[in-house]
Amino acid sequence: MITTHNLGFPRIGKKRELKFALEKYWKNGITQNELQDIAASLRQEHWQNQKQLDLLPVGDFSFYDQVLDTSFMLGNIPARVQNISDDTLDNYFRVARGRSSQNETDCSCIHASEMTKWFDTNYHYIVPEFDKNTRFNLDVSRLLEQIVEAKQQGYNIKPVIIGPVTYLWLGKTKDESNKLDLLNKLLAVYAKLFKELETTGIEWLQIDEPILVTELSDEWQHALRNAYHTLHSTSLKLLLTSYFGELQENLQLACNLPVDGLHIDAINARNEVSRVIDWLPSHKILSLGVINGRNIWKTDLSETLNWLAPLHERLQTRLWLAPSCSLLHVPVDLENEQKLDGEIKSWFSFAIQKLDELAILASALNKGEDSVKKQLSENKTAIDSRKNSSRVHNQGIKNSVLEITNEMGNRQSTYKERANIQHKKLDLPFFPTTTIGSFPQTGEIRQVRKDFKTATLTEEQYRIAMQNEIKHCVTEQEALELDVFVHGEPERNDMVEYFGEQLTGYVFTQFGWVQSYGSRCVKPPIIYGDIARPKPMTVEWINYAQTLTDKPMKGMLTGPVTMLNWSFVRDDQERSETCLQLALAIRDEVLDLEKSGISIIQIDEAALREGLPLRKSQWQPYLDWAIKSFRITANGVKDETQIHTHMCYSEFNDIIASIADMDADVITIETSRSDMELLDVFDEFHYPNEIGPGVYDIHSPNIPSIDSIVELMTKASLRIPAERLWINPDCGLKTRSWDEVKPALSNMVAASKILRKEK
Ligand code: GLN
Ligand code: ZN
Repeated sequence: MITTHNLGFPRIGKKRELKFALEKYWKNGITQNELQDIAASLRQEHWQNQKQLDLLPVGDFSFYDQVLDTSFMLGNIPARVQNISDDTLDNYFRVARGRSSQNETDCSCIHASEMTKWFDTNYHYIVPEFDKNTRFNLDVSRLLEQIVEAKQQGYNIKPVIIGPVTYLWLGKTKDESNKLDLLNKLLAVYAKLFKELETTGIEWLQIDEPILVTELSDEWQHALRNAYHTLHSTSLKLLLTSYFGELQENLQLACNLPVDGLHIDAINARNEVSRVIDWLPSHKILSLGVINGRNIWKTDLSETLNWLAPLHERLQTRLWLAPSCSLLHVPVDLENEQKLDGEIKSWFSFAIQKLDELAILASALNKGEDSVKKQLSENKTAIDSRKNSSRVHNQGIKNSVLEITNEMGNRQSTYKERANIQHKKLDLPFFPTTTIGSFPQTGEIRQVRKDFKTATLTEEQYRIAMQNEIKHCVTEQEALELDVFVHGEPERNDMVEYFGEQLTGYVFTQFGWVQSYGSRCVKPPIIYGDIARPKPMTVEWINYAQTLTDKPMKGMLTGPVTMLNWSFVRDDQERSETCLQLALAIRDEVLDLEKSGISIIQIDEAALREGLPLRKSQWQPYLDWAIKSFRITANGVKDETQIHTHMCYSEFNDIIASIADMDADVITIETSRSDMELLDVFDEFHYPNEIGPGVYDIHSPNIPSIDSIVELMTKASLRIPAERLWINPDCGLKTRSWDEVKPALSNMVAASKILRKEK
């Protein structure tokens, strides 16, 4: 018989119950006991949802983050919170977010730990902190309680933990020491942990080492060998899991570590499965992740069964089946969606539906396809409907992509030549000042958008309300004496959703939430079909804004790579193909803006960096099509039209050449927090075009002083000639209040005047 299991289940709840409970707790609206009760009932519900599996995960539930849970389990708690209180959960929240409740004024002694992206997902984990004196101290109470809880409810379980080597790899040392020097100490604690778990009577333990799909130095490979040889004397059976990619050069290592079973991502690494079977010692089980845990598409069950049948024949009971990775990265339940078009909905599968698929596969293999005849035929109907749907495929759009020429991605002249023409036309002062696009989004603006969506407001009323807000933004910018204006983006609740809603091929869910960090979730739109732009999307707003001022009004668009990276995308064609379709659609918008008389157009690529593959060796192909897509979008304009792009991240050193290759006339980036140190890269790389290094940290309520801005820009001008520098904030101002924005921008303009005099 095949064993089915799951690596992890979304913990946020079908209707984000955990989010609302946490936020209430932080506002002192509920007690800790009440919060714990909500958590217990969510866990209960989630096990209930998974009960058809042979082994259910335990320990995957988290109040904030599973890596932070691991830090607390291992006793690796930053010294700065240790003496604040005896309350472990409150200390846990202090590490996660700087405070455990709103009553705690933020004192500079408890800064939250750093947060960063979990591999190539949009989930953020809390980075473990290490130094050479780090000591570990096991506290297994949380996990033991949950094991007892699940057993009491009668489930057959498999606790889930992060492996020691991945744990070290995820953390940062705060001194010059080598993290790996801590490995032996850490292994001693894991050995103790195993001893504790042995007493619970569980048979299997899932131990995640996703670093197996990354490029590992000899040192890290050796650490893995060392770790599992040291830990292998336990009587627990260890299921070592890797996911998100191929094992490649780590394949033999993964097969040979002394554990009892190996899980691999058979979606991303299907082509490695036969090699894994060859290398895997015959006493080990092989768990194949055959249901995609990273997207929302229904699995083609008959195709998967055809592929699995011979493997099953060969492996027999050694074959286990699971989703490719934890289901943390997909929404919970498709059944909640009441507004989705029925046909399109039939193509999707969220976490709960994915587990149904798994059960169908197992049943077909264990008992024959007849045992799930009806389910298989329903699945086939859905798969066929998607394959053949005219709503998915539009030959005209596919042809336009085929007809893309290199010239379409090239400006007519070099930057130098265009810059001359643009500068003459725009006649901007030295150190021109501008903003990144959005102005504060007040409660009233959100309400107007909501009322329009629910038809409480007519289109005309909505237009007038938005125009008033645009007018307000323009008036403020006039008063501030900025040089290049924006309309303020009041009509957009989200920079991807706003455009997605106006393009073909996109759908939106009501409850398709996925945890991003802590209590924060995102609801990625879904690209299901070929993408086209039926009509202009922004031209009317931008033109209206331009009528209100003589200053140049920047047209404001989201770029194709960001549209792609922040959506659930199609799995029936290459990402690059979808990206090029987006590029063509947004290119049309760029050209329409230009035609309507707009002379500066900004195309945001906030998420370009996030799309980088896990292995550096695969970066270049991604960058090639991503940059090509941007160029197709942006570069069809005349010389006199100035193209801006914006990226709200600062680590671009390793991709600076590709960024320069986008050939935007002006790029604005985040730099203020690092004192312009991030510009060091320009010592070696001669960035050819104009740059606006951010001088206002919009993630902080602090107002930058005139002096600090002058100082930052002076530092910047050591690296980039002053005639190519712009002055602007780090990012959009949407989350700030006017009370903060006005003085900050006023200081920015004052600084520009000082700098111009000095020039
Ligand atoms: N134009 C967008 C804004 O200002 C850019 C946002 C972003 O880069 N994340 O809000
Ligand atoms: Zn930004």
